[in-house]
Amino acid sequence: MNLHVPTLMVALMLGFALLTLQVSLAHRRTRSRHELALWSRGCFCLMLDFVLLAADRGQGGLLTSLGQAAQWAGLAFYAQALHWLLLGHAGPRWLVHSQPWAWAVLLALQLVGVSLAGRVAASSLYCAALLASGVVVIRLRGWNAERSLRLVAVSLAGLVLVLLWRGARLLWTEDTIVSLSEAGPIQELAMLATYVGMLGAGFGFVMTVFERTAAQLELMATQDGLTGCLNRATTDELLAQALRQARRAAQPVAFVLMDLDHFKRINDSHGHQTGDEVLRRFAVAVRQRLRASDVFGRLGGEEFGLVLPATDPAGARILVDDVREAVAALQLQGRDGSPIRLTVSAGIAVALPGQEMSAERLYGRADQSLYEAKRCGRNRTELYGASREAEPAAADAGAGAAPVLRAADASERRVG
Ligand code: GH3
Ligand code: MG
Ligand code: MG
Repeated sequence: MNLHVPTLMVALMLGFALLTLQVSLAHRRTRSRHELALWSRGCFCLMLDFVLLAADRGQGGLLTSLGQAAQWAGLAFYAQALHWLLLGHAGPRWLVHSQPWAWAVLLALQLVGVSLAGRVAASSLYCAALLASGVVVIRLRGWNAERSLRLVAVSLAGLVLVLLWRGARLLWTEDTIVSLSEAGPIQELAMLATYVGMLGAGFGFVMTVFERTAAQLELMATQDGLTGCLNRATTDELLAQALRQARRAAQPVAFVLMDLDHFKRINDSHGHQTGDEVLRRFAVAVRQRLRASDVFGRLGGEEFGLVLPATDPAGARILVDDVREAVAALQLQGRDGSPIRLTVSAGIAVALPGQEMSAERLYGRADQSLYEAKRCGRNRTELYGASREAEPAAADAGAGAAPVLRAADASERRVG
């Protein structure tokens, strides 16, 4: 290798300046992302490091020592940003508390006349420890999160290895450094590794944050924030999709409308917050009884919908009655400790194989059955067509179809 180290330093300085600008602009758009603010501070400190090094012309004087301090702060900011991103809080305290000590040690080494090579070695080992903290948190807590995080981890781990190698060579071999801007295998490799590490880690981190933001936006657009159920629009879309798939596979699809009974009274007697908690507990109780392929949506207020693929009327009734009993057995309490009795009414409608059925029509049928369940006294399940001669096929299938069609498949992904 024959690299011009001062040119590499200028390239790094400009690279970190651009990253600082880009990341802080991105942070202005996504104010809640504290980790972006930390990363941009890290980039700024590293840029400052190279400015100070250039100003000192690599001679290892006071400006170089200040540059070292900026470099350590920058790497600590990187590690903190990764902790915030993955754990939602700051990293270990030594990341911050060790900084003044490290600077004191560096000054002491300079005062007692330790060579530049010795000081660079000590600094390399400290930098490696700071970065390793970021690598460890990704390996333990972020490896299976956003894919771009692996690029960050690999880039930083590469840099850690080069720093350890530089420290070890300067400490235990004859190698030495006369000036930080000199050409030579140690400085060239260190600069190159910093350049590649900066590119890999910087882009990987920004990509990770945006991957995460996109996933959160998607979740917000499809989920109900209170109960974690899918929202109305997504449930409608998945019902239409389930009907299309069922038509191709000649299988039934059940659609269930559930409405909590006298929910207004719970709100009126125990307050809106307790009402919210009851809605959450209801959603948990229902979700525990669903298959991975079932869709569970909140259609409005205290009304919920279930899309049950490959489920015939008898299968749907068994599930819904099971849910109803589980809800009635929930141990709920108001803020004053008084018990809350919760029941739910449900209407089921099933699209049978060979039946031409639109989502709107199926919805309308389930709604009629729910109305019937309310009219007949609540805390009950009504199946559309079960008592109608107009729908003999559905009625037959509901009353006597055996075996009950509702195969469990735990390997499917839960969608609601
Ligand atoms: P019914 O048995 O006939 O369904 O009676 P109900 O009281 O459950 O029905 P009604 O439509 O009269 O009242 C529904 C109540 O649900 C009124 C509304 O304040 C409450 N509600 C809707 N959404 C929420 C929510 O997100 N949180 C809370 N706490 N209450 C809600
Ligand atoms: Mg209700
Ligand atoms: Mg209602």
